Amino acid sequence: MNQNRRDLLKGTIIGSGALIAGAAHAKPEPKGKPKPETYDVVVVGAGFAGMCAALEAAEKGAKTVLLEKMGRPDGTTVYSSGWIAAVGSRFQKNHPEDSKEAFFNDMMKLSGYHSDPELVKVYADEAGDGIDWLADHGTPFFLWENLPAPELSRCVISPGEGISGGSKLLRCLMAALDKAGVKIHYNTKAVHLIKNDKWEVEGVECLTPEGPKHYRAKGGVILTTGGYGANEAMVAQYIGAWAAKLIVRGSPWITGENLLLASEVHAKLVNMDQFYAGPITPTGHANPSPLMHAGYGIQVGTNGKRFVPETWLQVPKAKAIAERTPDNRSFMLIGQDADANDNILSNTIERFGRLGYKVPKGDTIEEVAKAAGVDPVALAETVKEFNAAVKAGKAKELDPPYEYETPHALETGPYYMVPAAGGMASTMGGPKIDKDARVVNFEMKPIPGLYAAGAAAGGLWYQDDIGGNQLGGGMVFGRVAARHAAARAKASKAAK
Ligand SMILES: Cc1cc2nc3c(=O)[nH]c(=O)nc-3n(C[C@H](O)[C@H](O)[C@H](O)COP(=O)(O)OP(=O)(O)OC[C@H]3O[C@@H](n4cnc5c(N)ncnc54)[C@H](O)[C@@H]3O)c2cc1C
Repeated sequence: MNQNRRDLLKGTIIGSGALIAGAAHAKPEPKGKPKPETYDVVVVGAGFAGMCAALEAAEKGAKTVLLEKMGRPDGTTVYSSGWIAAVGSRFQKNHPEDSKEAFFNDMMKLSGYHSDPELVKVYADEAGDGIDWLADHGTPFFLWENLPAPELSRCVISPGEGISGGSKLLRCLMAALDKAGVKIHYNTKAVHLIKNDKWEVEGVECLTPEGPKHYRAKGGVILTTGGYGANEAMVAQYIGAWAAKLIVRGSPWITGENLLLASEVHAKLVNMDQFYAGPITPTGHANPSPLMHAGYGIQVGTNGKRFVPETWLQVPKAKAIAERTPDNRSFMLIGQDADANDNILSNTIERFGRLGYKVPKGDTIEEVAKAAGVDPVALAETVKEFNAAVKAGKAKELDPPYEYETPHALETGPYYMVPAAGGMASTMGGPKIDKDARVVNFEMKPIPGLYAAGAAAGGLWYQDDIGGNQLGGGMVFGRVAARHAAARAKASKAAK
């Protein structure tokens, strides 16, 4: 039986065994009166941000619960590679060339200076400590050395050992939560924020298999439900109809509950048209990116024509596939000679095969076009024009320009057409948070008792990011929110 990437990733969390045993999928209709349970801190969404928040809150002495709508942690973290960007962690001691200031400056620059500098500063100041904290709680890390600027060896990663890096992070955190006595309530979907007459958030109403349940929070509710990338209507509304064609690269359950819940108390939503994209195969959910940037071949739509400069990086290219082709479908046409680049072609074909995708192949351009369902006459014409331009040293004059310094004519079969659709990785917008991870309202005032972190929160990211700083944002602001909410719970008890 073929296993696709989604199945493999799911297996990872199911494989965490006893920690999530008993988490059933079937969810009967709730009935009866809501049952109340009271905590200091209620965290909604068991992804990386939620688990960091719940662990930190418990360690600050708060009675904490973590609520998850699915039968297991099933958000985007499970699908992620697990890179986390930081500066100043114990793993980065040999990199005195880097600094919090440099990190801050790079992140602001990559965002086009749209990120909230106050949030970026908190990130730069706290991420290193967050990595050390995770390591102290049993997450093994190594530093990815010699990344080019502006990354500067800023990513740590936990070796997945057969599972995704993100799943590995969750497994380690689940073990730590278990030790700290924090329970995860599965099949518990937050549907409504409970607020008092002053519109202070006091808890959350959930649907559970046993019926509706009220979770009261003395210190606060922390939303870590992820973004809205898998909610087609929201993507069309906030980003554009073309973007709704993007294939979801992560979890199909990340459906914008951060927006639905926070909007109940008039949270300000920011950066709503911003998201991170990447290429993906339409079936099998494999990542064709390495091959797309190997310096060989041309990228064409199903009409057999080029539509994007092959040199574009993965984010703009993934967006262009969805924007410029009618069906969000394209192919990299590659000849056998692409293997001169570290066997990139054979490796891709082998990797795709493992994920259940057979790459269309042909001894001639017409043959491979027919195998891929691409217009063979148009493709042959495109290749003829491309080869002539390469030989004349005029590839950069093609429309769109072909900008590799050493272009290779497509003359060595067999040829392959590796599929690449545009994929949605994660949205960057959401309820705006302040430096304490408190969600703010339209007047930029914190809404008492409501916090957000990770992909559920807005303000930290815009346009582009330092690789690894989405998970990093969840870690940093999950912990910040937890500390604030735990202190608020303590203060409310002292006041009584
Ligand atoms: C292929 C891929 C690779 C990536 N690699 C990286 C990387 O290496 N480094 C990096 O920094 N970023 C990476 N990212 C982005 C990163 O994975 C996400 O930004 C991050 O995982 C979001 O984490 P989170 O905890 O905020 O949300 P999630 O992990 O999405 O978790 C949210 C959880 O909330 C639950 N939930 C939702 N609604 C409710 C509700 N109403 N009630 C209760 N529970 C609810 C969901 O079921 C889910 O379990 C990658 C993304 C993709 C798609």
